[in-house]
Amino acid sequence: MKVVVVGAGVYGAAVGAALVRRGATVTVVDAGAPGSGTSGATFSWVNSRNKQPLVYHELNVAGMAAHRRLAAEFPLGDWYHGGGGIEWTTDETALRAKVDALLALGYEAKWLTRAETLELEPGIDPDRLPSGGTAYFPGEAWVEPRRLIAHLLSAKVEVVADDAVIGLDLIGDVVRSVRLASGRVLTADVVVNCAGPQAAEVAALAGLALPMRNLPCVLVYSSPVAVPLSRVVHAPNVHLRPEGGGRILLHSGEVDQGGQEAVERLVRDAASLYPGMRAATVESVRKGQRPIPGDGLPVLGRVADVRNYFFAVSHSGVTLCLHAGELVADEVLGENRDDALAPFRFERFEESR
Ligand SMILES: Cc1cc2nc3c(=O)[nH]c(=O)nc-3n(C[C@H](O)[C@H](O)[C@H](O)COP(=O)(O)OP(=O)(O)OC[C@H]3O[C@@H](n4cnc5c(N)ncnc54)[C@H](O)[C@@H]3O)c2cc1C
Repeated sequence: MKVVVVGAGVYGAAVGAALVRRGATVTVVDAGAPGSGTSGATFSWVNSRNKQPLVYHELNVAGMAAHRRLAAEFPLGDWYHGGGGIEWTTDETALRAKVDALLALGYEAKWLTRAETLELEPGIDPDRLPSGGTAYFPGEAWVEPRRLIAHLLSAKVEVVADDAVIGLDLIGDVVRSVRLASGRVLTADVVVNCAGPQAAEVAALAGLALPMRNLPCVLVYSSPVAVPLSRVVHAPNVHLRPEGGGRILLHSGEVDQGGQEAVERLVRDAASLYPGMRAATVESVRKGQRPIPGDGLPVLGRVADVRNYFFAVSHSGVTLCLHAGELVADEVLGENRDDALAPFRFERFEESR
């Protein structure tokens, strides 16, 4: 089976690698370089902390487990960083209710005292921690998406970079070939749309109307700095995690909307939380697009009206890509018998019209 995957972000790489493992011949085509889309500018926190409804939570939990399995399979792999996540907010009651709700779902969570929090994150200014403690989620992680993509594409995946997919040739309800901007034409038994924020445009090439409500966002990367930040931390006004080479990645809801002032405020907030960050400067500010299907849920699997066309598109794609990639690959090869993808099919948009 010859499969053309459109997009070499975390989804395209994960779907491509899963297909190769099942014996397919796979070409992953990207308009730019692998990892140059959203997957190159993402917080990439592997979690299922705020995911609703339950089927979506369970998909994310399965995504977390898939990351742990892959990391265990490649002990020298350099993309996966465990250590869990810490959160506190100004509303302790709401956070405690969230912890209880997650515990009831079997999600690993516990309440840490201030001293316990400082044992995990000794770089935090103790005065900035709430007296009531913080919530800790030991099963969470973060990944370096480009390292993950590089690993996944090192399977026998053919990669065509810097060549956009501009057309699909259909005969009846079957795609026969994929046309690239360079003029190259790839024959295809199956096409998988992993185009992230551009998924609607790539869907339109097959005559499919995929509603997307992408959100612009901003991430701030510090210069390398010797601060003992070892995990994902969500504090009021600032979210942080380590980034490669001693850098720290900063984000907040506010910075997505604001300009330079919001960036400066974010850096100040981070430095007041981790005083060692005063030695850091802003190395880069990257703008990205959250790929969000119309109802917020993933779009995964086969399309009924175009029999050999599949989707693998969602937000939370870093968390979901490995598990969802396996499910989509199973379905491409005709092996998905329990219909795990039923809640995430494209047809739900057509039915709601
Ligand atoms: C600020 C921010 C924070 C986030 N935080 C998290 C988080 O903490 N945890 C989490 O799990 N997720 C998070 N996400 C979401 C996650 O990053 C995305 O869901 C994921 O990266 C999407 O991957 P993708 O492969 O679908 O898309 P992309 O990485 O965008 O890849 C799509 C690729 O398709 C290519 N392409 C597009 N059109 C064409 C075409 N016509 N022909 C050929 N190639 C094409 C693009 O060049 C691109 O490389 C966050 C996103 C953002 C922006």
